[in-house]
Amino acid sequence: MKMQIGGKAVDACSGEFSDIINPATGELIDRVPRGTEDDAAMAVEAASSAFSGWAATSPQRRAGILYRAAGTVRQKKDELAVLLTREQGKPLTEAKNEIEGFANVLEYYCGLASSFHGDFIPVPQNGYAFTIKKPLGVCTAIIPWNMPALIMAWKIGPALVSGNTLVLKPASSTPLTNLTLASVLSDAGLPAGTLNIVTGPGEIVGESLVKNSKVKRISFTGEAGTGKRVAELAASGMKKVTLELGGSDPMLVCDDANLEAAVAGALRGRFYNCGQTCTAVKRLLVFESIAEEFIKKLEARVRNLRVGNGMHENIDMGPLNNRRQWEYIKELIAGIEEKEEGKIVTGGRVPEGSACSRGYFFEPTLVADVPEESRLLKEEVFGPVLPVVRVKDLDEAIEEANNTCYGLGASIWTNSIDRARIGFEQLNAGIIWLNQHLKVAPEVPFGGTGESGIGRENGPDALSEYLDLKTVMIKT
Ligand code: NAD
Repeated sequence: MKMQIGGKAVDACSGEFSDIINPATGELIDRVPRGTEDDAAMAVEAASSAFSGWAATSPQRRAGILYRAAGTVRQKKDELAVLLTREQGKPLTEAKNEIEGFANVLEYYCGLASSFHGDFIPVPQNGYAFTIKKPLGVCTAIIPWNMPALIMAWKIGPALVSGNTLVLKPASSTPLTNLTLASVLSDAGLPAGTLNIVTGPGEIVGESLVKNSKVKRISFTGEAGTGKRVAELAASGMKKVTLELGGSDPMLVCDDANLEAAVAGALRGRFYNCGQTCTAVKRLLVFESIAEEFIKKLEARVRNLRVGNGMHENIDMGPLNNRRQWEYIKELIAGIEEKEEGKIVTGGRVPEGSACSRGYFFEPTLVADVPEESRLLKEEVFGPVLPVVRVKDLDEAIEEANNTCYGLGASIWTNSIDRARIGFEQLNAGIIWLNQHLKVAPEVPFGGTGESGIGRENGPDALSEYLDLKTVMIKT
């Protein structure tokens, strides 16, 4: 596939390409241009030229185009899901959910198209004031490989509905779904240059986009370390920035919780998308009085997960997305018992058998008796490994839950309103769930505290992030 710049499908200035590999089979699926600094600059120019026309288009008309695109995405859901599974690795059912999520988010923002406007503010003894909201100009979105379609929608929905133009840089291992979705938007009538996609290395294309003086806003999703680099570069240009970074979400299971529901929640919360979800359950904190029974029940469910190529029937968990992630998980688990970092209850190896022999597969893994200083609790484990910690009571669970530099999500599982309330008040996280984990919705603000980032996506407030507010004061 080619990049999309100024409404044209183009190769990179360098003439070089990068291979896109199916993580389940190791096969080459396609090649994309290896973009350069010049390509990034051309895309910003294209977005800049398109800006005045798009900003002058009525919000309702902009929404009409995005609605049309969302409709086509729904019609093509199966085809798009196959592409997503082939480049990302997730099971086809999860890929279909994600493609639907893309359409849902776009439609949600289309619904808000008539709603953003300034305010009238009476000013005592002086007169009155009003505010005007205007799009910012050229924005940049940099996205990861774990949910490329959904995260694309989180960024392009509010940016485009509010009248900005955009340059999006996909992750290096998953650009194909993003490029295909961009061509659906173009076919739906999005003017040339309004949405541009530049593929290529983050250090080159990503940094060039962040540094470009014509870019007014950056919305970044990825690792905390990369986010800090992006923030540094953005600060020197005084640019608006949203950072959606990693997490180490705790799941607190109290002794009065519905155990069957909590076991199912932990299973899905950790192993959905092969554990590669920013708000996955990354630390399981269970009251010690129920820990034995809980671990036994969870072990049985984990052992039953069917691992394989996401394109095949009845697969619960696909491979990790890329070699770097696979090597990280293997290295993390190697010798864990010898290092006294926990006891492997089930999993812990690369699966055997021909179905998994050529991909980046790893067994769904449950590790019990994990000590506080273990890497499993300190790092963001982005893969199918779930550490379990036994806690005495709610106070200890909350102390352990907050013992992290991250603050993305957290869940508390209890039937007690008092315990739930204490959890809502004391857990350091941007999103807290009661008796569920992972659920997100376009209507609900999403984002983290601490090293999990700055700003929020989703919900009506995300639109404000893409608008400049001007105040006018009138003396009477
Ligand atoms: P990553 O930081 O390696 O890459 C993210 C994107 O940044 C990619 O497009 C990459 O090419 C680009 N990039 C890399 N170096 C760059 C640089 N110097 N300047 C500009 N761009 C650069 O992250 P990843 O491995 O692709 O994704 C996994 C991470 O994303 C995890 O930490 C996960 O928790 C996080 N994530 C967060 C959220 C959220 O909403 N909070 C959602 C999904 C994923």
